[in-house]
Amino acid sequence: MKVAFLASEMFPYAKTGGLADVAGTLPRFLSRSGLDVRVFVPFYREVREKNLSLRRTVGAAEVDWGGKGVPFSALEHQADGVTVTFIDQAGFFDRDHLYGTAAGDDPDNGERFAFFTRASLETMKALDLPPDIVHGHDWQSATAFAYLRFLYGDDPFFAATRSLFTVHNLAYQGLFDKGILGRVGLPGALFDPDGLEFYGQVSYLKAGILYADAVSTVSPTYSREIQTPEFGFGLDGLLRRRSADLHGILNGVDYHDWNPVTDRLIPARFGPRDLSGKRTCRAELLRMFGLPDVPGSPVVGMVTRLAGQKGLDIVCEALEVMLELGVRVVVLGAGERPIVDFLSAARSRHPSGLGLKVAFDEKVAHMIYAGSDLFLVPSRYEPCGLTQMYALKYGSIPVVRATGGLEDTIREFDPASGSGNGFKFSAPSPGDLLDGLRRAVGQYARKESWRALVRNAMASDFSWTRSAGAYLALYRKLIKPPRA
Ligand code: ADP
Repeated sequence: MKVAFLASEMFPYAKTGGLADVAGTLPRFLSRSGLDVRVFVPFYREVREKNLSLRRTVGAAEVDWGGKGVPFSALEHQADGVTVTFIDQAGFFDRDHLYGTAAGDDPDNGERFAFFTRASLETMKALDLPPDIVHGHDWQSATAFAYLRFLYGDDPFFAATRSLFTVHNLAYQGLFDKGILGRVGLPGALFDPDGLEFYGQVSYLKAGILYADAVSTVSPTYSREIQTPEFGFGLDGLLRRRSADLHGILNGVDYHDWNPVTDRLIPARFGPRDLSGKRTCRAELLRMFGLPDVPGSPVVGMVTRLAGQKGLDIVCEALEVMLELGVRVVVLGAGERPIVDFLSAARSRHPSGLGLKVAFDEKVAHMIYAGSDLFLVPSRYEPCGLTQMYALKYGSIPVVRATGGLEDTIREFDPASGSGNGFKFSAPSPGDLLDGLRRAVGQYARKESWRALVRNAMASDFSWTRSAGAYLALYRKLIKPPRA
């Protein structure tokens, strides 16, 4: 089975969030099941600067782009049984960021990512590799499904191709002005509420939801939530209409990259049977953030985009009371200015209570998973969430809002039976967050049951093997020949 994966980011080449981890891992697990997986990714500047060994497989190709030809080429890289094809179009992708800067999204993102999907489909043709499945991710890849239907609908090359669109976050919709359709070579008639129009704009996300053969999202709970007005961002009606083709498949963890037994990014290694290395990691983390080591007081870690979705405003509101509980809080994040400003000011007021690093830093992220005792994920909504799964493996106990993938991966600890792997609270409010945290801090003081909880956490298994199997089953269902 040949699968073409379209993703706007992929670890370790370019990453801003969980999509990169998924695109970097799932294809490898699929290829181990015998699938032929090829991932298409834009050739960003940061990829170019990695000086990978690359083979130019398509040179000097051209896409007809609003009446004029725009050239591109395709570069190929082999890694772990997966072929990665980079779409090289310097004008669109040779920039020092993926999507935008602090000043905002790049104004030509509509053109950039539509071009990425068009050039990816053209590359499949140029290489004569008709895919059985085109699997696109998020709005940046969604125009592929509109092209497949309206531009390549009669093309025998794609006649047997089936398609799957995965939504990693429904809030990012790829909204552009009406004129974008003409500029990227899609029919103007799609500007209609039954097509891609979304309240006066064009929604790329709708192209995926409407035109892919099946749609999936990254946890069972989120797949149900997005069919309700509260979580649907205006698309819940459309998603309800497609509910028979809508699947929720939990993301997984690559325990090769995320494992305290082998992790080279942390100062000491440890496993469930011997946690002495975790104590070293904790001491080193506190030193790095200039915080005192207070025995008996837990360290609460956060690795997160600093965004409302992640409940950072709730953390800001609850912070003073949190610190009064006697915890130290360590935050690694990048994102929205008001949150950065608030946390920076709070850090000055509480130099021995709050540690803050405003950056995107893979090593510090690993240090926090390894060195913290508790891991806070207070998201307003969370399609899957990877950080709580990484924290579990590193014996840092998640305290999470019960939503989406957090609901599906964390079970409330029950001291009586010793079951559960974390703490959950229900409302996205400072009061509920503090209740959850108080329960966790209370348990932390009880050494015996805490040890049981840490064991449960570290034994939680969210390996990709199971989820890759679920994708494989779905691909098979899609390509099953129709009954005569
Ligand atoms: P999302 O994709 O919504 O941001 P996920 O939990 O699915 O959230 O994935 C977040 C990924 O990004 C994890 O791998 C996490 O470790 C990483 N991450 C988030 N913020 C940072 C940061 N500031 N520095 C390093 N890694 C980060």
